[in-house]
Amino acid sequence: MVLATEGYCVKCKAKRKMDGERQIIMKNGRPATQGTCSVCSTKMFKIGGGPSKISAKSAKKSAKKSAKKSAKKSAKKSAKKR
Ligand SMILES: [Zn+2]
Repeated sequence: MVLATEGYCVKCKAKRKMDGERQIIMKNGRPATQGTCSVCSTKMFKIGGGPSKISAKSAKKSAKKSAKKSAKKSAKKSAKKR
């Protein structure tokens, strides 16, 4: 089985197989895949993996929630101590 990365080619205006793909890190720290269109050799760009983006977002949300909760708890505890 050949592992092919698909990306959107702006020139073909369609999903194309990515040639010479390589993993890069964008300025905002997100992983992305860069390559060229196998049909017209236009530079293609694909941002990370779709599903992982959603899970990362929800994980961040829940982490923030729990952090807030624990912070409140510890603040109360220290206030009682003093
Ligand atoms: Zn193309």
